[in-house]
Amino acid sequence: MKRCKKCGLWENYTNIRFNQEGICNYCEFYENHKESLENKEELERIFLQKMEEGKKKAKEAGSKYDCLVGFSGGKDSTYIIYQLKERYGMRVLAFTFDNGFSTEYGKNNIESALEKLKVDHITFSMSDDKLRKQYTACVKMMHNFCSVCFHYMHYYSYLFAGQNKIPLIINGRTKGQILQCADSTKGIEPFESSHHLKDFEYQMFKGLEDRADKTGRMDYLKDIEAEAVSYFAYHEISEEDTMKFLEEKIGWVRPKGVSGHADCFAHAMAETMSLEKRGFPIRTGELAVSVRRGELTIEEAEEIAKKDQENFQEVPPEIRKRFYDRISVK
Ligand SMILES: [Zn+2]
Repeated sequence: MKRCKKCGLWENYTNIRFNQEGICNYCEFYENHKESLENKEELERIFLQKMEEGKKKAKEAGSKYDCLVGFSGGKDSTYIIYQLKERYGMRVLAFTFDNGFSTEYGKNNIESALEKLKVDHITFSMSDDKLRKQYTACVKMMHNFCSVCFHYMHYYSYLFAGQNKIPLIINGRTKGQILQCADSTKGIEPFESSHHLKDFEYQMFKGLEDRADKTGRMDYLKDIEAEAVSYFAYHEISEEDTMKFLEEKIGWVRPKGVSGHADCFAHAMAETMSLEKRGFPIRTGELAVSVRRGELTIEEAEEIAKKDQENFQEVPPEIRKRFYDRISVK
């Protein structure tokens, strides 16, 4: 199999193309835009400007909140809420999507973090019947189910933002998640910001959202305008430093396992499905971003991917059973 000389991505990676020198389209994009993507002062300036504009809009609209932040209890969302409130002086509304996949660890973290963060918080759930149908259909059609959570998480953020006149929705997507499929500036921060749900979902679904919209089965809330901002598109901090920071500031508890995603019990299931369908672990694209940015060598990234592959070859039967119990239509 062919692979990119720079980042090591193999030719089975999503929509990859190689130039004559054997460099992939994602590395080419990164090299051509490196200056903007790595300009820390400029990124901070853009972020600050967005926050100030948000505060102004919230004030004009008479909103109680400047921003809405999805809160899973994981390190990234907890860190973001802390920073927005303490460093940027934002009035934050945190919200949690109860999708029936959360772990005890995640629930405990949410509870203890809220005591320290002192922000308003809502938990919401949607029709269980509808959710089960969506998960089942998604597994059948795409051998994947995370897309359903992404969609409804963002769908309801826009709905709540609209109802409460909140101008900003701030998310915890990492630099790796933002850049893993970036080969044009369309929809990619810091080049472009999305102001509507469908524009935002373009970043993750690359056209699938368009097809879903055309079927009319998906309501993209087109009359609700709110700006989506990815905190980590504008800030640089390692996973380790994020965890240390939270341990120190709010007594956050780090997960025991190695894979991250300790807040979703079905993560192993998602990984196995990725291996079965795409042939590589979920974080492959994110690891390639780290290689491109000089944080890992190709060999180091490959070592991590190999471990994921071994760990997720098979899902423990009790997790598989719990997963299908959760998604099957009653
Ligand atoms: Zn590459």
